[in-house]
Amino acid sequence: MTTLLMIRFDNQEVIDNLKEELERRFGLSIKDIKKELPLMIKRGSQHNAEDLLAETEKSKKINHSDIALGITEEDLYVPDLNFVFGLASPDLKCAVISTNRLASHDRLIYHDRVLKEAVHELGHVFGLRHCPDRRCVMHFSNSLLDTDIKKDEFCTVCSDLLRDSG
Ligand SMILES: [Zn+2]
Ligand SMILES: [Zn+2]
Repeated sequence: MTTLLMIRFDNQEVIDNLKEELERRFGLSIKDIKKELPLMIKRGSQHNAEDLLAETEKSKKINHSDIALGITEEDLYVPDLNFVFGLASPDLKCAVISTNRLASHDRLIYHDRVLKEAVHELGHVFGLRHCPDRRCVMHFSNSLLDTDIKKDEFCTVCSDLLRDSG
């Protein structure tokens, strides 16, 4: 069974059911750890997503996991974009997501957004690209509205691609 290392940077609170949901959806065995956020290059208050991805990969190797997902409350950026909800690398078999811009008064909506971003980035780890279907979890989120419009599931096209990849 594929093992996923889930790393909660900056000792973030557990997001209810995220581990269980990801285990169920991807058929993974998940190890959940806490880690301090490493010193990274910053742009204002934002952290560099590529650096966090590299840190995530280090932890993945140390823990002998197949794939890794880092989660942080800090806002993330990549040099060409104002911000990113997450970043993934199919080559490194790693992804990171930020909960910074997903806040809601409604805990259920918040959890749903975090789940969507996690499923989306793991989709990339498994080789999926962005999907034109706005309801598909692999649709690119440019804003929170995009995240709220899409479902937390893969469309049939992406589901088939995912099955073929694994
Ligand atoms: Zn994406
Ligand atoms: Zn799709």
